[in-house]
Parts: sequence; C-alpha cells; structure tokens
Amino acid sequence: MGPQTLIELGRRNRADPTELARWAADLERRNFRFGNFQAFVEAYKFVAGVLDSPADYALAGKRLVETLAAENVRYAEVTLSAGMVLWKKQSLEAAFEAAAQAAADAGAKLGVHVNWIFDAIRHFGVEPAREVLRMAARYRERGVVAFGIGGDERRGPADLFVDLYREARDRGLHTTAHAGETMGPESVRAAVELLGAERIGHGLRAAEDRAVLALVRDRGVPLEVCLTSNVATGAIAEASDHPLPAILREGVRVTLNSDDPGLFGTSLEREFLLAARTFDLSREQLAGFIENAIDAAFLAESEKSELRVAHEALTLGLGSA
Ligand SMILES: [Zn+2]
Repeated sequence: MGPQTLIELGRRNRADPTELARWAADLERRNFRFGNFQAFVEAYKFVAGVLDSPADYALAGKRLVETLAAENVRYAEVTLSAGMVLWKKQSLEAAFEAAAQAAADAGAKLGVHVNWIFDAIRHFGVEPAREVLRMAARYRERGVVAFGIGGDERRGPADLFVDLYREARDRGLHTTAHAGETMGPESVRAAVELLGAERIGHGLRAAEDRAVLALVRDRGVPLEVCLTSNVATGAIAEASDHPLPAILREGVRVTLNSDDPGLFGTSLEREFLLAARTFDLSREQLAGFIENAIDAAFLAESEKSELRVAHEALTLGLGSA
C-alpha cells in the first residue's frame, strides 16, 4: 500500500486518528526508521489494520499495479501477507480474490503481469502457516506461485517448517523464506538446507560466513536484497553498511527488491538508484540484477524468454540514450 491508500483507507475504516496523523507526517518526510524489528512489526500491524473489506484489498491491488506500471515493471511476484489476513480473522478467500481480480484487471490494461506469493508469519507457529499453505495451493490457478515465511526467525525457527515446505513442493508450489534478516548466517543455512527454499528474502547476514555465501552460490539460490527495508527495520544503520559488495564478490546471485514499498517509502526504482549510488555500481551490474530476477522468477521458461526480450530492448534503448 502506498501512502495515499494508507491514509485514505485509514480514514475510511476509522483507524486511530492520532496514529494516522503521525503516519501522514512520516510519509511526508519519507523517513522510515523503526529502530528495531519489533517496532517495525508494530507499525506493520497498524498498516495492515487499515485493510478491512474486500473492497479495500481491491483498491490496494489496483493501486499497486498502477505504481508498478509507472515504474516500467512488466512482471511482479507480489507477497501477500496471508498470515496477517488470517491473524486479523478476515476471510483470506475474499481478501485475495478481491486483490487478485483488481490487480489482474489493472494489469491487463497497463501491461503488468502479477503473480502472488502467500507468506506465513513464522513466529505465529506451524498451524497458522499450514492454513496459509492450504490456501496457496488452492489458489494456484489464480496466480499463486509460491509459499514463504517471514517474521522473527528466532521465534519461528526453520526446523518447525520442514514438513510444510515438503508439502508445498509436493503441491507444485515454489518456495521462499526470509532468512538472515533478524538472525545470523545459520538461519540462511537452515532455510536452504532444511527447507530447500529456492530464494532467500534479505539474506544479508549470510555475508558473516563465507561458507554460507558459498552454499547459496553453489546451489544457485538468489538473495533478494532490500536495502531501504534493512535500514528501516534496524538490520543495518545505513545502506552503505549493507554487505552487498562482499556478496557480489563471492559470485552470489542477487536481485533488488522493494520489500514493503509503501511502508518504507520506497519503490523498485529508488532501490536501484540507491544501490547504484551507494556502491557505485555500473549499468551492467544494474542490468544484471534484472537478468537475475528473470532467471529466478517463478515462471515457465517461455514466459521468462519474453521478459528477457523486453528487458534487452529496454537496455539497448538505455545504451543509446
Ligand atoms: Zn521482507
């Protein structure tokens, strides 16, 4: 959800006016530093709280696609925090169907293809996550391509979810896991070795152990790097503290991502600019992140080829500009 949608829905659904006013001011300043992960989780709950009816989810889905189109995004895998919807005791069916339909309608007009990842909240435990997986499998025909877990790694260790990840694979879903965000490299190792996660959300702390970097590199598991998010949640103090250069030096595949763009006041475009400026990256390196994203997409090979053609056409355009 972008800032306007948050404020609009917050007013409509009578969110705490003081909280909302504070958010409006923060959004104005684009200054999102929650200080630590728990403070971020509290903020996240407030924001998720403004989504109430299926119509709210539809509005969020439509606005999201409009934002992506404005950034020249052709394909997106959008994480729906399904665990959060269930935690709010809302109908995940109604919420998802509304959001997916609105996103598909807007996407058909604007040329953006959206698929979905259903995310469970790992510190809520296995049973709620099982329900998220059940729904993800049910909605495969509606564009749900993967199952993942996010949240507090310490309170929701990987070994709890081994059976669920096996089941996800058996049901034809791809898998992701946030790891190495709130815990060290051992959490990334567990996500890869125990869960068989195909992509790692964040993974920045893998850089603390070269053996773990070698593991993700050798298994071809990309790290989904989200610079602004890591500063906002307090994982690092400044973007320049991110170990991206060391990760790239080890030959690990990296994609750049916006995480919660509305909540962190960022966008995919801003993340590319931030990475380029902070680490003095070349145009080839930036294009490489997009190529990695296409390779790592949960799409059929023929669909990936189409994206590669579109990407090459755009990069050629850049080269001559
Ligand atoms: Zn995240």
